Amino acid sequence: MAFDAEAIRAEFPILQRQVNGKPLVYLDSAASAQKPRAVIEAMVHAMEHSYANVHRGLHTLANETTDAYEGARKKIAAFIGAEPNEVVFTKGGTEAINLVAAGIGTYLQPGDEIVLSEMEHHANIVPWHFLRERKGVVLKWAPITEDGALDVEAFQRLLGPKTRVVALSHMSNVLGTINPAMELTRMAHEAGAVVLLDGCQAIVHKPVDVKALDVDFYVFSGHKLYGPTGIGALYGKAEKLAALPPYQGGGEMIGQVSMDEITYADPPHRFEAGTPAILEAIGFGAAVDWLSGLDRIAIAEHEHRLYARVRERLQGANWLRVLGEAEGKGAILSFTVDGAHAHDVAQILDRYGIAVRAGTHCAEPLMRRFGCTSSARASFALYNTEQEADAFVDALTKTQAFFS
Ligand code: PMP
Repeated sequence: MAFDAEAIRAEFPILQRQVNGKPLVYLDSAASAQKPRAVIEAMVHAMEHSYANVHRGLHTLANETTDAYEGARKKIAAFIGAEPNEVVFTKGGTEAINLVAAGIGTYLQPGDEIVLSEMEHHANIVPWHFLRERKGVVLKWAPITEDGALDVEAFQRLLGPKTRVVALSHMSNVLGTINPAMELTRMAHEAGAVVLLDGCQAIVHKPVDVKALDVDFYVFSGHKLYGPTGIGALYGKAEKLAALPPYQGGGEMIGQVSMDEITYADPPHRFEAGTPAILEAIGFGAAVDWLSGLDRIAIAEHEHRLYARVRERLQGANWLRVLGEAEGKGAILSFTVDGAHAHDVAQILDRYGIAVRAGTHCAEPLMRRFGCTSSARASFALYNTEQEADAFVDALTKTQAFFS
């Protein structure tokens, strides 16, 4: 049965609004997704009925809030097939990668190698560059084929006795490419490397089972998964998290503190110094609950249908260059329009009520790989409709006419 996007839309209050006198067509979900009522209400409910600081509370509201916060951790763990003590709440995907890189960096030696790919988001580049600058580690880059796929053979050739870490995106935020995560992880493990997958995009579009993938670390953000900003998750295998030193110091992350000595709490609390993003964690839990109640395969098919419709209608457009056409890719369309800057394209589309992103998408090495300085990006989510896909194509065709 076809997925009912219209029914889903009704759960997203913001989708009722108009932009520049036109119905909003939101095609920027890869940057941040809109929020369903279930998430909004969970956060409002906590603020209106049951809120205090978490942990160590001896009063009812503190205990209720702790239950809700730790309950959210359980929901997120179940969502990815992990144990609750393997899930650390972070500010987002970015902070999760920084936490892992900083921790692993404490035991890396000059000359140790970290393998990344050319399609990484800066969040999965810069923290490793820190280790290049500070520890003298060597970054190696797996190349991308012309259609936007990771060159798996070339990736395998980069692996060797000095490879300590392999950090790859599960799905590219620019190309939409979905990498063969299980195969890449197996190869990296055979080389003795620790594997981190950046799941910020992938987890939105496909069910993720971290145990089946056998990754050591998996990171993602709440706000792209229909949850709030300011919250994300780091999954780490229990023994891998236990081997990491603390990231920040403060309350809640200690065992005992004296003037001469300190011991640390076990994961996950070791990595959650200070008052955490309590309301955001509750909203994040509500988001994965909400998503778990839907048919995720049907959602992926729906999103793919929208992408295929747009791609089909733009097939003959000789003024369009699409970045990323890899087999099995997700519903992200990055493109350039001949003679037009991507920023101008996005601004003109906005006049038609259509929200797309333009720029480097925090992926400058990838942009360079494809010889462009920027691109526009339309990303499709479960609440987008065929009508919206058509509105986008029509508006883009008119936009192009400005420049021809
Ligand atoms: N990785 C990828 C693939 C992303 O798309 C993003 C967000 N654009 C990030 C990492 C960073 O996520 P956040 O900004 O939520 O920390």
